Amino acid sequence: MTISAEELDAIRDSVRALCTQFPGTYWRELDQNREYPTAFVTALTESGFLGALIPEEYGGSGLGLRAACAILEEIHKNGCNAGAAHAQMYTMGTVLKHGSPTQKKEWLPKIASGEIRLQAFGVTEPTSGSDTMSLSTTAVRQGDHYVINGQKIWTSRAEHSDYMLLLARTTPKEDVKKKGEGLSVFMLDMRGAKGLTIRPIRTMMNHATTEVFFDNVTVPAANMIGEEGQGFRYILGSMNAERTLIGAECLGDAQWFINKATAYANERKVFGRLIGQNQGVAFPLARAYAQYRAAALMIQRSAEMFDAGEKNAEEANIGKMLASEASWAAAEVCVQVHGGFAFAEEFDIERKFREARLYQVAPISTNLILSYVAEHVLGLPRSY
Ligand SMILES: Cc1cc2nc3c(=O)[nH]c(=O)nc-3n(C[C@H](O)[C@H](O)[C@H](O)COP(=O)(O)OP(=O)(O)OC[C@H]3O[C@@H](n4cnc5c(N)ncnc54)[C@H](O)[C@@H]3O)c2cc1C
Repeated sequence: MTISAEELDAIRDSVRALCTQFPGTYWRELDQNREYPTAFVTALTESGFLGALIPEEYGGSGLGLRAACAILEEIHKNGCNAGAAHAQMYTMGTVLKHGSPTQKKEWLPKIASGEIRLQAFGVTEPTSGSDTMSLSTTAVRQGDHYVINGQKIWTSRAEHSDYMLLLARTTPKEDVKKKGEGLSVFMLDMRGAKGLTIRPIRTMMNHATTEVFFDNVTVPAANMIGEEGQGFRYILGSMNAERTLIGAECLGDAQWFINKATAYANERKVFGRLIGQNQGVAFPLARAYAQYRAAALMIQRSAEMFDAGEKNAEEANIGKMLASEASWAAAEVCVQVHGGFAFAEEFDIERKFREARLYQVAPISTNLILSYVAEHVLGLPRSY
């Protein structure tokens, strides 16, 4: 799927128009009360933006990853936060790629329209952390159902989702024949599910994240995606899109911080001159901008390769790392340029600063990206 620069500009214009309805005051109030941005997510859903990666035959717009990146980047560039909704965009990738024709027909149109909220992605567990292959939540087959027991952590948006894409162990780790096997993916309908407990975790920023406990929760065998035991591979396959999209959000944040800081440096006068006239203020801003531009090229490349059906793991990983570092560098500069005012809530900088820090940890930490590059790109020995 190729999309023209004009089409991308038009998408950005519409996203920007939508974002103007959700100014800083809206996000600040939610942040203070740790509330979910329901009105924003509804507006995004109704606009059809969240169906950008779903093919037209299933009711989406089939615009591809470049367009999806433009949407998320623009949201963040305009001071909003797509973290409350972005999973609706990419979590369905596993269903699209590995689901049966019946599953795709059943779920994808409803995900595209927002009738089904697929916002929850249950992978991380408290004991296994980044070592996904060691996760211990089990799914045991009993007749035409699987019975789930265990716990997930950091399952974001679980309280605001109808389904969870769940990764669980169907074969004990010691019995698997090949490394990476033994885990399976399920579409778990959480609405009224017996034995499911969701507990919110209050975090540094307003992220609607939770821990989820499974006590004999049943899921129909028909809701398993693809083959039993192959789930880890499926989830890994969808992560390149996720990393590229998160990278795009970071690029949006970087621009928000840089724009805000540049405007301030051009108007704030101290010692009788604009602070931006001091190279000690201007150079860190110029450096942050250069970092953002370089990261943007890698994210763009990653999205183009994905849309062309090429393998983009290297670009997705590196792009996400560079973009998360660029947004953090820009956040740092923005604080420094604003001096004391950066700490006042009404400037939105302290909120965006807290939000921007996440992306060097989740959805994958920088060290794990470096491990990927060291091992799979440079051919160095595996470190773990
Ligand atoms: C707000 C938030 C939302 C999240 N949302 C979701 C979600 O919706 N669904 C989901 O499944 N998960 C989610 N996560 C989880 C997230 O993906 C993990 O936090 C992340 O992958 C890191 O795992 P961990 O926290 O267990 O850290 P750990 O794996 O415990 O790692 C801790 C530190 O040690 C480093 N480290 C570990 N092993 C190595 C190694 N071999 N070499 C070098 N360094 C190493 C890591 O890089 C990290 O810095 C979320 C997390 C947060 C904080």
